[in-house]
Amino acid sequence: MNLILLGPPGAGKGTQAKRLEQSHGLVQLATGDMLRAATARGSELGLKVKAIMDSGQLVPDGVIIDMIAERIARPDCRNGFILDGFPRTVPQAEALDEMLAERRQTLDHVILMQVDEAALIDRLAGRFSCKNCGASYHERYHRPQAEGVCDLCGGCEFVHRPDDRPEAVEARFEVYRRQTAPILPYYRDRGILRTVDGMGEIDEVARQIEAIVASAK
Ligand code: AMP
Repeated sequence: MNLILLGPPGAGKGTQAKRLEQSHGLVQLATGDMLRAATARGSELGLKVKAIMDSGQLVPDGVIIDMIAERIARPDCRNGFILDGFPRTVPQAEALDEMLAERRQTLDHVILMQVDEAALIDRLAGRFSCKNCGASYHERYHRPQAEGVCDLCGGCEFVHRPDDRPEAVEARFEVYRRQTAPILPYYRDRGILRTVDGMGEIDEVARQIEAIVASAK
């Protein structure tokens, strides 16, 4: 099963993708996480994209498409994957179709997480993640069970993303409206776009997504 989770920054795509990874044995392919890992390693790619990411703009399509094409071809993706943060432009959506056609794979569901923008700004401002495994938390809504210790890996260091600063958040919303929202009709026309209310509790959103995943295409 191959899925796309769509939605503006802070909609909860990463949190829900991690759940689906555990419940369905799918692989989470989060382009933002891949780019942040490249930046942390100080690789050529990482250095090239860091300033773009920190400003909240999009990395060029060619860079992202090559990165995903290489990742999808790895054996662990054979049982299915969840795309989180990709595609973000119409050319990326078209490139994904080509990649999947070449591999004789299909998209099963494109799930849009619908959210309220003002509430999202609040969510992003309080967001932090485990430096070791990337698990995400929130200062008010989702603190680690033991204070200062990651629930998933036991790590004790946490980080705030540079692009969760208010100026960058605004740029990311603008980019979403202008460049990413136009891919919605692309999937709606094919009848595979489904919508969930992303403003509910994490468990409730997960239930809505599970219902879609369990339904036939
Ligand atoms: P995310 O963690 O998904 O919010 O992504 C963080 C940043 O990485 C974005 O603001 C972009 O700068 C870059 N990025 C991630 N995915 C993509 C993509 N599919 N296309 C272009 N840029 C991306």
